[in-house]
Amino acid sequence: MPAKADSMRYDIPALYKFLLRHFGFRDWWPGETQFEIIAGAILTQQTSWSNVEKAIASLKLHGALKPEAIAMMPEVKLQKLIRSSGFYRQKAKRLKAISKHIISGSGSVQGFLSRDKTALREELLSMDGIGPETADSILLYAAGKRIFVVDAYTKRIMSRLYGINPDIGYGELQSYFQAELQKSVRIYKDMHAQLVELGKNYCKARPECRPCPLKSRCKYYKTNTTLAQS
Ligand code: SF4
Repeated sequence: MPAKADSMRYDIPALYKFLLRHFGFRDWWPGETQFEIIAGAILTQQTSWSNVEKAIASLKLHGALKPEAIAMMPEVKLQKLIRSSGFYRQKAKRLKAISKHIISGSGSVQGFLSRDKTALREELLSMDGIGPETADSILLYAAGKRIFVVDAYTKRIMSRLYGINPDIGYGELQSYFQAELQKSVRIYKDMHAQLVELGKNYCKARPECRPCPLKSRCKYYKTNTTLAQS
């Protein structure tokens, strides 16, 4: 847990209000069922969301967006259906593993997700290829449990905006948000989505600072004299 003074220095609630005003409520994560969100969280690893959408559409078209169908399907067929998401061999294995785990452990997606947050997180993290970001995405967006999701956008933005060490650990950065954000699943979901939006539109690998709505409060922008003076 960070010192109170540290988290206050970042003023995360004010950042959320500012982003909300700029981008509007994001209503993220798209998904018609809890299992679609679980599958999306695995498929989005190391790829863009547009590639995930194609894989999800392909699974839906074949009636395969449920754990029973994925568990039964030959792995090669599953690889073909999710090919657009990249790393499709690994992801097919992960989708099959979690589908079988859900069926054998709880019998249903709802039963699986209704477990205690800490126990469910540990269970997810014990599975091959599921790290903290994927596990927390499933907990927050599929299970509706209050836990903040940190991703590459979060680290990049916080490091540029406030000068936080870009190598900060997942848990430490997560605790900054959890210490200061209003304790609401809806706001946790939306804050993550706002940061993704900022990262996609402005704070890219090569930042587009001039049109960025945060430039007047951004450490990176202010310390980059060429940008700030032009
Ligand atoms: S001003 Fe530039 S570095 Fe700062 S948040 Fe915006 S895009 Fe990122």
